[in-house]
Amino acid sequence: MTDKWLVGIDLGGTTIKMAFISHYGEMIEKWEIPTDKSGKTITTDIAKAIDAKLAELGQTKAKLAGIGMGAPGPVNLETGLVYETVNLGWKNYPLKHHLEIETGLRAVIDNDANIAAIGEMWKGAGDGATDVICVTLGTGVGGGIISNGTVVHGVNGAGGEIGHITSVTEGGAPCNCGKEGCLETIASATGIVRLAVEKLSESDAQSSLRTLYAENGSISSRDVFEASEQGDALASEVVEYITKQLGLALANLSNGLNPEKIVIGGGVSRAGEHLRKNTEKYFKRYAFPRVAEGASISIATLGNDAGVIGGAWLVKTKLSAV
Ligand SMILES: [Zn+2]
Repeated sequence: MTDKWLVGIDLGGTTIKMAFISHYGEMIEKWEIPTDKSGKTITTDIAKAIDAKLAELGQTKAKLAGIGMGAPGPVNLETGLVYETVNLGWKNYPLKHHLEIETGLRAVIDNDANIAAIGEMWKGAGDGATDVICVTLGTGVGGGIISNGTVVHGVNGAGGEIGHITSVTEGGAPCNCGKEGCLETIASATGIVRLAVEKLSESDAQSSLRTLYAENGSISSRDVFEASEQGDALASEVVEYITKQLGLALANLSNGLNPEKIVIGGGVSRAGEHLRKNTEKYFKRYAFPRVAEGASISIATLGNDAGVIGGAWLVKTKLSAV
């Protein structure tokens, strides 16, 4: 049955990424459709998109082994129920059930950060390691933890929420989760920009970021990393602070998990080696020495494809009749 295709789907707030992937993890076809922001027609849209793509490729549904899909919120793995999403208005939404009825295919659902972690484990920077921590630095900070080859979900689906590790215990910035001082308020793209802008307003120190901010009325997290790489002192202070907090959080987490690979993904990770190296410096300082020895930190390699590849892995491993 290895000639069947696995369907990987990564549901985002703006687009739904879809792919047909071989049993061996090779990308056969990938495409995107817009996300219905009301959340109501998502499964119908997906079913139609699969049918249209199969027709385009001269194939039938018999070619497909099943669907593995990531949803932007905590998920009940057994029932495929999405407990809650921030953007799509879903509350206890039976995604697996709807998806299976609409498509006529079997489906397995997980959280989007988790399937991205699985994708990196299978085909990306995780490089086949079975103990992997993935942290995604985007608008927020997401995470996926794979321990002994299995995604850590916890008792009610909130395992791997690395972004909400408390980094600042008193007087931290408010977080979307309702707490204060979470890692997300520091190491997300939003957090990095906030910290840089705060620093600019605290002093008159010369900085290329000040000029950029005056010219454009805004700066990006990328600007902060680029300025730091070019030796800008203020930007470097911000980068040191961010990577110190990220390295600390990863070290504490790693002391409990003893991972082989730590993978940093998301838009902020385009900062590349500068981000990786600084994070590693602090990680090594704060982790238990044997834990630090066992782990390597790398930048994610699959980019936007991590989710659909992780989804395909779920089909391959969870829908056992394949
Ligand atoms: Zn939080």
